[in-house]
Amino acid sequence: MDHSTRSSSSSATSTRVVDVLVPVALNQAYSYRVPRGMELKPGDVVCVPLGPREVVAVVWAENANPDPRLHNRLKDVGEKLDVPPLKQELRSLVDWVANYTLSARGMVLRMSLRMGENLGPERMRLGVRLVGEPPRRLTPARRRAIDVLSDGLLHGKSEAAREAGVSSGVIDGLVDEGTLQIEAMPPPLTPPAPDPSFAQPEFSRQQRTAVDAMRALAASGSFHVALLDGVTGSGKTEVYFEAIAEIIRRGKQTLILMPEIALTGQFLDRFAQRFGVRPLEWHSELTPRTRARNWAAIAAGEAPVVVGARSALFLPYADLGLIIVDEEHDQAYKQDDGAHYHARDMAVVRAHIAKIPIILASATPSIETEVNARKGRYQRIALPSRFGGQHMPHIEAIDLRREPPPRGRFVSPRLADYIGQAIEKREQALLFLNRRGYAPLTLCRACGHRFSCTICDAWLVDHRFRQRLVCHHCGFSMPRPNICPHCAAEESLAAIGPGVERLQEEAAQLFPNARTMVLSSDLITSIETMRSELNEIAEGRVDIIIGTQLVAKGHNFPRLNLVGVVDADLGLSNGDPRAAERTFQLLNQVIGRAGRDQGRGIGYLQTHQPDHPVMKALVASDREAFYATEIDQRERSGYPPFGRLASLIISAGDRPTAEGFARKLAAIAPIDERIQVLGPAEAPLAVIKGRYRFRLLVKSLRNVDLSDYLREWLAAGPKTKGNLKLEVDVDPQSFL
Ligand code: ADP
Ligand code: ZN
Repeated sequence: MDHSTRSSSSSATSTRVVDVLVPVALNQAYSYRVPRGMELKPGDVVCVPLGPREVVAVVWAENANPDPRLHNRLKDVGEKLDVPPLKQELRSLVDWVANYTLSARGMVLRMSLRMGENLGPERMRLGVRLVGEPPRRLTPARRRAIDVLSDGLLHGKSEAAREAGVSSGVIDGLVDEGTLQIEAMPPPLTPPAPDPSFAQPEFSRQQRTAVDAMRALAASGSFHVALLDGVTGSGKTEVYFEAIAEIIRRGKQTLILMPEIALTGQFLDRFAQRFGVRPLEWHSELTPRTRARNWAAIAAGEAPVVVGARSALFLPYADLGLIIVDEEHDQAYKQDDGAHYHARDMAVVRAHIAKIPIILASATPSIETEVNARKGRYQRIALPSRFGGQHMPHIEAIDLRREPPPRGRFVSPRLADYIGQAIEKREQALLFLNRRGYAPLTLCRACGHRFSCTICDAWLVDHRFRQRLVCHHCGFSMPRPNICPHCAAEESLAAIGPGVERLQEEAAQLFPNARTMVLSSDLITSIETMRSELNEIAEGRVDIIIGTQLVAKGHNFPRLNLVGVVDADLGLSNGDPRAAERTFQLLNQVIGRAGRDQGRGIGYLQTHQPDHPVMKALVASDREAFYATEIDQRERSGYPPFGRLASLIISAGDRPTAEGFARKLAAIAPIDERIQVLGPAEAPLAVIKGRYRFRLLVKSLRNVDLSDYLREWLAAGPKTKGNLKLEVDVDPQSFL
């Protein structure tokens, strides 16, 4: 390491030392010396040398008693960046989340610092303008450049060069000749602020009560959790917009979290209809420049409303006044790589630390949230019926044991009839199947060979559109062969089971004149194509939509009245303690797409288990029955929220290493009568990307500090080395 950087002149006694948290996988902050003349306080964003690199980091604390022996070995803070300091509120959140999830603090901080490279004041853009006579030596390139600039207006320098098809050297030459002049481009206009009074709708009587509660909540300016519990189509969005309006009037910021930001095109437009402009977006597909600009606007308090994916929770809002978590029950809020955190739960933590209100919105609240509402810890604000007098969809089960589809088909004759009738009435139908691709399994009819991934314990999924067999866990893919690689039989491969692509084929056979469209995440190339496809559907240019869970979320398709769930049992069988809850929520949500505008919505559930409590609750439209059964079951078994869970996932390049480590770890688990350590067991997905996986499940009573217990245990445990990996997942959502 090079210790000479900027450290030569300062003397040991007079220099201050600060502890700086760097955004890498480290828990502790590092000490750096503060160069003379640099003002620094906790929260300041700085550049510091870290090994061979310079990184953007944050001053976490003053170090009053640095070890004098280390002093001369410390490096200096490189530079203080000209951005607002991270507030105590956000630093506490970072500490809290790291502590709770057992993630490195640096990894959590990293989510706050995702401003990209162009941090700081926007790079000044240069423009050129035609001001003088053409030069004596007029090359064709120079002539083209002058042509482009002949309007006498200011053009961006690089844009002008590109438009004229010349290098920037040609432009510079013309500047030297006095033909062109360089000027600074004016900064891009800041968009107008949302106007809380732009277009407030008329509310129904039911909505008015909820709106009053929303406004009171926003005005309270203190920590308070509300569950906005409204059926699909009840106007939850319109109602929580009024809480936002109140916060805008108070000059504070609102964060709206969405489970799937790709799907928010309609949302942005609705926001603009209500407030006159679109809100700021935050998600992974922003360009670096937009990302930097949005980050700066958020930190400077110039973005009154931000709509974002889960990582938006960690941004440095200048003055956050309200958080809204839309579709709070959605699984996508759980991040399962890097720091394992649940954005809904951590949003409640942030609201608590910041002392602000938070609204959780859902038609099918998570069991955790529902229990909190029942116990009075959260205020329930209910919208029990649809806006505009629309009925909730009627739901029927189709018992596949009695009415099976024809061989090799997946739509039962009755469902096909109903779809035909819908098309005749010029209405849309949605066939829902939560399975991407053409078929989940391919086998050889001659020898029985099944195509599986070479490095995962998983079948390869046939994707006809891409013409490949694909592993859904690691992305491995291969062309679909014509000859069985095992027995060399020709034309012997059979697709087993349906995916959405296969359903499209079936729909086309059943209704040759219908226009079909598949909506599935793997077929979407960008947020923009997704948004335009959703618009096509909303405008009625599609008759049959075939979709995965992507279609379940948050869209309004005015002409959609029929939803057919092709395999309602699909999510029930995977041994996940939340399987029933997930299935109930997903099916409710997808059927809730029907009949929102006019006509009566209807949902058909193709199932082999019409007597399953989830199917019965759906068919009877008896939400209460579902929650009562499920909450009771959780309580009896001590599952969340009546107990706590954490998973330890151990993986290694070979099975004995992973298993041996898992056993050693289990053997030294501290004894505590309130805590059970289950396993190790081979994970249901036993091999992913060539790594063998074992799981331990830790289950405790509700009042136990499970994070502390885990920390003590792991500190005393064997150390991971080589390619052994230990992942800690507190409050796991996935058990694969
Ligand atoms: P949810 O989020 O509860 O499913 P939405 O907020 O999307 O419901 O509302 C459903 C539909 O009803 C939307 O098209 C919305 O614009 C419309 N809507 C709801 N409330 C009103 C209102 N007060 N005035 C006009 N349209 C409304
Ligand atoms: Zn694989």
